Amino acid sequence: MRRAMMIDLDKCIGCQACVTSCKERWDIGPGAVRDWVHEFEHTDDEGGIGITFYPGLCMQCEDHPCTEDCPTGATYMDKNSGVVMVDSQVCIGCGNCISKCAYEARRIDEKKGIVEKCNLCAPYVDRGEEPACVTTCLANCRHFGDLDAPDGNFASLVKSSGAKPLVTEEVNIRPKVTFSGDNHRKQILAKGVVKRPIPSQLTKVWTGFTRPLVSYLVPAAMGLTVLGGLLLNFKNRKQRIAPETRSAPKKTLPRHRAGMRFIHWFNLLSWILLLLTGIGLMSSESFALFGRAFPQWLARTTGGKAPLLLFHVIWGIFWAFVIIPIFLVYKRWGIKALREIRITGDDINWLRIKPLKMLSLTDKPLPQQDKYNAGQKLFAAAVLAGTIAIVVTGFIMAFHLGSPELIEASIVIHKLAVALTLIGVAVHVTMAAILREERPALKSMVVGEIDYNHAIDHNSKWVKEMDSPATGGKQ
Ligand code: SF4
Repeated sequence: MRRAMMIDLDKCIGCQACVTSCKERWDIGPGAVRDWVHEFEHTDDEGGIGITFYPGLCMQCEDHPCTEDCPTGATYMDKNSGVVMVDSQVCIGCGNCISKCAYEARRIDEKKGIVEKCNLCAPYVDRGEEPACVTTCLANCRHFGDLDAPDGNFASLVKSSGAKPLVTEEVNIRPKVTFSGDNHRKQILAKGVVKRPIPSQLTKVWTGFTRPLVSYLVPAAMGLTVLGGLLLNFKNRKQRIAPETRSAPKKTLPRHRAGMRFIHWFNLLSWILLLLTGIGLMSSESFALFGRAFPQWLARTTGGKAPLLLFHVIWGIFWAFVIIPIFLVYKRWGIKALREIRITGDDINWLRIKPLKMLSLTDKPLPQQDKYNAGQKLFAAAVLAGTIAIVVTGFIMAFHLGSPELIEASIVIHKLAVALTLIGVAVHVTMAAILREERPALKSMVVGEIDYNHAIDHNSKWVKEMDSPATGGKQ
């Protein structure tokens, strides 16, 4: 099926009845429209002044470049009807598709915070009605139908009336909406109306910088980090820690309270779920991160993009509302956390010596470390900054807060923050779970206690603090 419209330019009287009925049917806010009638003044065939009314709407182009640059995959061509749709449940109102429309047929509805465009009244037509503009046209100049209908009535009407799409030599994206009437009028309109679709700044930043970084550099950095950890394990496979050579006044020390352990594992689960659903939402050509097959499969499996986005947003809010209060309570409004991740002179030296030591390039002893070593402190600071950026930009996108420009900027920041945090996660996982010598630290994130000798080796300043009578072994 290929739903389409044909408009007779010679009959249109510019009464705007079609525009009014469309606005009413779709409850469109001030400033936004799904169709419009513009007036073109020009010379007529005999050199006199002529007026042509241009009843504009989405031309339902077969090539639809407007759907290529949608960051959420909200806009697409419906395969059953051939109509270019916008899913209002998934559109975040970034306006990125607007610059790719050759007919300026997309407008932001500020009341709803989404983009509006004509869908040829798809849900009404599905139940047997006609588009609102067709039924209300006073001059009876609009005709609606299916170009592929078996009876061929509409296709024959288009053919016999000599109706043509508005295209130029430079821009022909095969519109299905056609215009009949005086050829001179059609040429004037084509010249005045058709624009070359150009990618927006957001698409340029995304395709030129962010997408290559997120699709290639981040996975490569993560893969190399994990591989490096495995190679180091292999290299050091004969080294064993000999705890019996040390004095061991206690077996373990309390390391992580239950709340912090819960945050850690809840964070991991949330990251997995949010990553999968986030990637699943990016199905348009420019924004698909790892191809379009996975997002399409995920959308099909979960019943469409809208439930997928709903889950992403609800879990994102749940995540933020769980971790933020627990973090604030356990870390005394963040003051304790800032103290724990404060970088000291010893930390800077540790950062210089540790990589060389891992590669057996130095014998220098590592400086004493606090409860968290310098690497863990940097990771925690990055995660803190990344989490704030992800939560703030997520709220802006989910609730369409602010201008389209702010939403566009939020899209880039949101995805970059996720990507950069993922590199940190790879380093963290390698250091905590893959490197054999660090495994007691991972275990402490499960049981809450850490091996005393490991703590002496890695966090001696903290052990001294814990052993001092002033703290009495309390964290
Ligand atoms: Fe997609 Fe943004 Fe256009 Fe909505 S406004 S359809 S989210 S590109």
